[in-house]
Amino acid sequence: MSHQKLWDSCLQHFKDQLPAQQFNSWIKPLVFEVKGHQIILIAPNGFTLKVIQERFLPEIASRAQAFFSAPAQIELRAEKKAPPSTSTKPANHIEKNPSFYSPKKIHKNTARLNPSLLFENFVTGKANQLAHAAAIQVADSPGTIYNPLFVYGGVGLGKTHLIQAIGNQFKKENNQAKICYVHATNYVSDVVRAFQTKQFDEFKQYYNSLDILLIDDIQFIADKPGTQQEFFYTLNSLIDSNKQVVITCDTFPKEISGIEPRLTSRFSCGLTVAIEPPGLEMRVAILLQKAVISGNPIGEDVAFFVAKHVRSNIRELEGALNRIEAFARFHKRPITVDLAKEALKDLLAAQNKQVSIENIQKTVADFYRIKIIDLLSKKRTRIIARPRQIAMCLARELTQLSLPEIGNAFGGRDHSTVLHACKTIENLRNTDSALNADFSLLNQTLRN
Ligand code: ADP
Ligand code: MG
Repeated sequence: MSHQKLWDSCLQHFKDQLPAQQFNSWIKPLVFEVKGHQIILIAPNGFTLKVIQERFLPEIASRAQAFFSAPAQIELRAEKKAPPSTSTKPANHIEKNPSFYSPKKIHKNTARLNPSLLFENFVTGKANQLAHAAAIQVADSPGTIYNPLFVYGGVGLGKTHLIQAIGNQFKKENNQAKICYVHATNYVSDVVRAFQTKQFDEFKQYYNSLDILLIDDIQFIADKPGTQQEFFYTLNSLIDSNKQVVITCDTFPKEISGIEPRLTSRFSCGLTVAIEPPGLEMRVAILLQKAVISGNPIGEDVAFFVAKHVRSNIRELEGALNRIEAFARFHKRPITVDLAKEALKDLLAAQNKQVSIENIQKTVADFYRIKIIDLLSKKRTRIIARPRQIAMCLARELTQLSLPEIGNAFGGRDHSTVLHACKTIENLRNTDSALNADFSLLNQTLRN
């Protein structure tokens, strides 16, 4: 079968699934090439590449895997175009991006618990106390109270840490227990492999015989009906025999798209809890604890300084702390606020300077395919107003400008309008996963 058929099937799929405008913006411009079992997708620019990577790659990968009957390597590249004003480079230079999607042979026997993710080093606060309490109860008496336990929240907020902690805790007291931690993408691979090698009975037996199944990032089984069907059976069979299932996801059950309703309604029949982004005090507490664990305690002043500037998630807090520690070690200096400032110089500069409000407006307008002039206008139709609110919220997060300054930059609006926009978007991010994904993508793009 010709490889073009694979790409044609992807094109057809996205054409059916996406609004025409999105299909034309993101999918149509891609150039598709194949070398052996390696697929190369060339995007017209870095922005499109990012969108493809975040939103469409899993689908392409799973189609490629089905097509080759084996995991396929997909490499994404951006065709580098110099910006029009400073065009000095040849327009068709191909920028090679490191290949990032290379499914490994991860199988159930490598799906292990990470012994360092424990309740003992999980800092609690308002943002995660409910999830934490539920996790402790589940680890104490699995299969009896909340089944399944469904934990949702944004990236880097501690979902994986928490469910791994459940596994580790239970294992400590029940050494013989059969506990499986599996990331949903590996579960998908397991299903595919079971089909290919005709070892379905073994597969079923393995999953059905568990005492605790911890499945991470369940959103990755979206649009994979075969896997969903399998998971539905496994879930029912485990729950019926009072075996614990814990599921994490980037959004709450009803909001996951591409998953059968019978599954999502099963997800919510136990307990559903959220993990929210940590507030300032909790970020400080996490930094203090991490610093103690790594053997380089820091003062509260340093912790406050870092926590004030690194706000997005806990993974980034850790990254910042690692940088500070490495910097201090290298220069053989104690960790002070001044040292932290120096160590995080690039990060702070990126936050303070590079993200101009014009850049935010342009990026958001490009992303939603609307005109900047409309973004700044008085128009109130949803198609304009929502991106405008997103842009204001991004300006609040990414620049040092005050509310009145932001309002001013958006066609002379009042500071209360900006505040309202920020609140609206913050709320929507918890309930509208598509909007949340757009926001994160824009946020990331602007930071880079
Ligand atoms: P998620 O799975 O939600 O993307 P992770 O569980 O991978 O996030 O957390 C990201 C990093 O932050 C991990 O190194 C984790 O150990 C750490 N972390 C997350 N939440 C906490 C917490 N409450 N206390 C201490 N460390 C945390
Ligand atoms: Mg995770």
